[in-house]
Amino acid sequence: MMSEEFSDSFCRYLGRIKTTRHMILAAGLFAAISSFLSLFSTHLIFVFVGSSVEPLVKILSYILPFSLVFVSSFLLIRGFATVHRRNEYLWEIAERDDLTRLVNRAGFLRRGRNLTIKAEREVSSLSMIMFDVDHFKTINDTRGHTAGDMALRHLSDILRQICRDGDVVARWGGEEFAIILPDANAQGAAIWGERLREKIAKTPLFWKDKALCLTISAGVTEWTHEGDSLEAMVERADKGLYLAKAAGRNRVHLMRSHLETVPAFEQDVMFNDDHGTTGHVA
Ligand code: GH3
Ligand code: MG
Ligand code: MG
Repeated sequence: MMSEEFSDSFCRYLGRIKTTRHMILAAGLFAAISSFLSLFSTHLIFVFVGSSVEPLVKILSYILPFSLVFVSSFLLIRGFATVHRRNEYLWEIAERDDLTRLVNRAGFLRRGRNLTIKAEREVSSLSMIMFDVDHFKTINDTRGHTAGDMALRHLSDILRQICRDGDVVARWGGEEFAIILPDANAQGAAIWGERLREKIAKTPLFWKDKALCLTISAGVTEWTHEGDSLEAMVERADKGLYLAKAAGRNRVHLMRSHLETVPAFEQDVMFNDDHGTTGHVA
């Protein structure tokens, strides 16, 4: 356990080593610690051997071990830092969606888990929004797959514009997106979701000189602090999204309780309705 904690904090420390100056400082520190013993033992030998040794040999005997340890520490630390940075880069590309450059589902879950742990520890608010583009298939069918791809990029650009640095903004899959808003309660997140919905509805995508209007349906929920989990929160937001679809699309549904269900007749409407207003060419 101790060694795991030590290697964790050691790796975190190495992750901060970005410049040559940091590397030299770190190598100096390691070299100073590791050469202390060897210098001390050299010193002891000279104490026993006495003054018969040439002063130049004496000086070199002190300087050489330190220099060797310093250079090897520098190379070792540089190697570790490079490996660490490459690992970070691999993590980064493994958790990015190619099309939108937002984080993907794996990235969302990892970041989300960290934020829920923080919210639980600090007893702070945390909310999430899950949204789905209304009648997205119509865009693909009438304008082509490339227009569909452009529409997804257009949405991610809007998200990048209005989200804050600490928010987790992910492409959950297909034309579904998930966002975590730290320090936002359910009401705040619902208001934010409504602003997002409005912004998307009012910002058409221009494709081949025609305006393509998009709308979204969203589900909003908050962290309950009562044995909640990220998976349960995603499920609630997803349920809220389907209730928004069932209620007619182009709206935000705030899930107040996990007990809310989609009524059977609304499910019929949801899965059979193909008279939407989105994806049309204005
Ligand atoms: P609803 O309002 O019920 O959500 O209807 P919808 O048409 O948006 O939903 P549906 O699930 O029927 O269609 C989703 C479509 O999204 C089908 C799929 O081909 C398309 N899609 C998923 N991922 C991509 C993508 O990366 N690019 C493009 N162009 N289309 C995608
Ligand atoms: Mg859809
Ligand atoms: Mg969908």
